[in-house]
Amino acid sequence: MAAEIISGKAVADQMQLEFAKEVADFQAKHGFIPCLAVVLVGEDPASQTYVKNKGIACKKVGIKSIEHRLPKETAEKDLLELVDKLNAADDVHGILVQIPLPKHIDEVKVLNKILPEKDVDGFHPVNVGKLMIGEADFLPCTPAGIQELLIRSGTQIEGAEVVVVGRSNIVGKPIAMILVQKQKGANATVTIVHTRTRNIEQHTRRADILIVAAGVPKYVKKDWVKPGAVVIDVGVNRLESGLCGDVDYEGVKEVAGKITPVPGGVGPMTITMLLKNTIKAARIRAERKA
Ligand code: NAP
Repeated sequence: MAAEIISGKAVADQMQLEFAKEVADFQAKHGFIPCLAVVLVGEDPASQTYVKNKGIACKKVGIKSIEHRLPKETAEKDLLELVDKLNAADDVHGILVQIPLPKHIDEVKVLNKILPEKDVDGFHPVNVGKLMIGEADFLPCTPAGIQELLIRSGTQIEGAEVVVVGRSNIVGKPIAMILVQKQKGANATVTIVHTRTRNIEQHTRRADILIVAAGVPKYVKKDWVKPGAVVIDVGVNRLESGLCGDVDYEGVKEVAGKITPVPGGVGPMTITMLLKNTIKAARIRAERKA
């Protein structure tokens, strides 16, 4: 039987409706609206699209968004100064510096400059550490979106065997860390596999929940998946034939219990969790002011 499709688009739309109400209530209570500052350096077309979509999503839920578009030859020192200014601005609650940055700029230095309480991407080492010990203020957006999809699709996470393909700092490691926590919506048994793992299929075949973030088009095949498993495809690969994920969707949907499509799966959730983090950052600000 073909798998049930987990529509990230539908979940994201529902959550954004919830956020619009939350922002209106927030404004009524605190007298200001959450504000996100987005910094884009250069003209990378994918980054420009992401930034544009972030602006549209903010507008949809009533979050104020400010864009700083800088030329690609911007000096690192000038970018750091802008981050400092945004850190100090009382009316900016979340800061997002779009990556990748041009090669002459040290990305880590810039991301680490963002104040942890404004780091709505969740990449600052303080926020990574807080996630590790189960006290996160801001979960990184893509992994947080994956967890939300699992919860809202009624997937049993507690006690589940989760296998994550990929160990990047933005997807693989944090989703593993989120799902292993002794917390609601987690409590899973997690395995991470990567390019040095032997017999990857033997691991993936054990998974009740298989999360794939390898960046390899259609990598995970039908016979790597346990019948009935929930498959979350994080991959976004641009082929001549169009977008595809890291999972061989046509084959895998024949054996999986549930599966996310590409596009329309994890992608829309990433922006949605950015909105969630921005509202949270404004809430942290409001509590400090009180
Ligand atoms: P990344 O930094 O390139 O990391 C890829 C990971 O996959 C690495 O840990 C790598 O292992 C592992 N890997 C690569 N080839 C493999 C193979 N043949 N077998 C096993 N493991 C393999 O990528 P990322 O940033 O995590 O992104 C992964 C995918 O998700 C990409 O397609 C990206 O576009 C997509 N993505 C989507 C969203 C979204 O919002 N939908 C957000 C972020 C990323 P090693 O560490 O051993 O090299």
